[in-house]
Amino acid sequence: MSPRVLSSETREPERRARRVPGADVFVREGVLHAATDHADAGLSECQEVMGLLVGRVYEDGSGMYAEVTGIVTGDLDAGSAEVRFDKDSFEALADSIDSMDGGDSIVGWYHSHLGAGCALSETDVRTQRALFREFGYAMVVDPVRGELSVHMSADGGTRQATMVVLD
Ligand SMILES: [Zn+2]
Repeated sequence: MSPRVLSSETREPERRARRVPGADVFVREGVLHAATDHADAGLSECQEVMGLLVGRVYEDGSGMYAEVTGIVTGDLDAGSAEVRFDKDSFEALADSIDSMDGGDSIVGWYHSHLGAGCALSETDVRTQRALFREFGYAMVVDPVRGELSVHMSADGGTRQATMVVLD
C-alpha cells in the first residue's frame, strides 16, 4: 500500500537552513489543533483515529527536516486500541496529495492512543518503517492524557523528534 507515499516522499528537498538549530520538525499550530480535535472526536466514540501529515521537506547541513502544514484523513477502520486506513480511502488520499500544487508532500502520519501515552508501539514502529523507511514523522496524540509527541525515522528505527511549533 505504500508506493504512492514513497513517490510523494522522494521529491527533491529544497535546501534551506532550519529556523531553529537542533529542531527536527516544524509544525504549524493549526496542525496541532486539527490533530487533537480529530483525536478528541475519536475519543467521544471510543476510537483511535489516524491521518497523514502533509508539508514540505527541506535539507540543510544537519540533514533533512520538514515543516508540517496540514493533515488529511479519510475513512478509517478503527477500534479502541487499533486503527488503520480503509484501503480505498488510503489510495484516494495519496492520489489527492500527489495532485496538490506547490510542492507539498506526505511527510508523516499521526494517530491517537486512548490513555496509553504517546510512545510508539511495536506495530507503530513497523508501520513507520513500512511507510517512511528513510525519512518521515509519526505524531501520536493521547486525548485521555492530553499528551502529544512526534517521533521520526532514524537509523532504521525511530527516535523522539524535537518539535518547534510555528504560528
Ligand atoms: Zn499507536
